[in-house]
Amino acid sequence: MMKRVKISFIIPSYNEAENIPKVLEAINKEMYSQFYNYEVIFIDDGSTDETMETIKRLAFHFEEVRYISFTRNFGKESAMLAGLQSASGDAVIMMDADLQHPPSLICQLLRGYEEGYDQVIAKRNRTGDSPIRSFISSCYYRIVNHTVDVKLSDGEGDFRLLSRKAVNALLTLSEGNRFSKGLYSWIGYEQKTISYDNVVREHGETKWSFPKLLNYAIDGIVSFNHKPLRVCFYTGAFVLLLALLYISITFVQILRTGITVPGYFTLISAVLFLGGVQLVCMGIIGEYIGRIYSETKKRPHYLIQQTNVDQPVQKMEKR
Ligand code: UDP
Ligand code: MG
Repeated sequence: MMKRVKISFIIPSYNEAENIPKVLEAINKEMYSQFYNYEVIFIDDGSTDETMETIKRLAFHFEEVRYISFTRNFGKESAMLAGLQSASGDAVIMMDADLQHPPSLICQLLRGYEEGYDQVIAKRNRTGDSPIRSFISSCYYRIVNHTVDVKLSDGEGDFRLLSRKAVNALLTLSEGNRFSKGLYSWIGYEQKTISYDNVVREHGETKWSFPKLLNYAIDGIVSFNHKPLRVCFYTGAFVLLLALLYISITFVQILRTGITVPGYFTLISAVLFLGGVQLVCMGIIGEYIGRIYSETKKRPHYLIQQTNVDQPVQKMEKR
């Protein structure tokens, strides 16, 4: 008898007690009409509400529910990695727990997989977002795509289907500081994109504060190459050139008219400007040193409190 292809859903969940039964129900509804086996892996990322109790209750009633709970909040990236490492399916679908990734697209993702694509990406447009936020994001992506080797695209997040080949490729990337958006793009493979309208979160609240977003933005630029260091070098060289120019002009002036004392403004601007440039450059270098520091510690990405999943599985592509 032919074995049915299995899909693993990976759902990182942090304080999503209200949403979890709804996601599961929506997935079950979508998969009911599909000719696939499936499992739904909830990763409880150290939630402080009833998330874990809810997941375990569901696991008791539905055999397709798997769970992994962390000892504390390790972040979405770690949760997704745990999901990928434990997924036993022939393909994986990553979804948020908050229903902002519409389950109605599952069918289209699966059609993409059947057509032979290794990554089927659901791309969200920015309907409902504030114009300022959309503007900042589009500027950011323009900058990133000029500095970084991989291509990042606005709206293409974690909501996607990955074939076993793509999942195994992602698992070979062992860096501690994971920036998934870049990693998906880095592994390449045949990709197909589907668009959907942005959905507003109904329950719970977003975990993205402005400082978190800013840090994420910096991660995006620094995680993939060392071009920013080169920018530091060019800035330094440019400032040095300006300084040399200024010195020679002033020197000629002194030769012609003698020393004139007032110079407070030029002095203070030079000190402040140079200080600023130096601090920014040091900050950029520091970003890299910090990364080297945390990579050398080789700490695990997460610690598991309880799970009903066999750990970790690396299956071969069967297609
Ligand atoms: N999430 C997580 N760990 C965290 C923060 C978020 O597992 O530390 C999960 C969260 O439960 C949700 C998904 O990541 O399923 C996306 O989070 P959120 O909705 O806050 O992000 P947004 O949709 O605003 O980008
Ligand atoms: Mg969300």
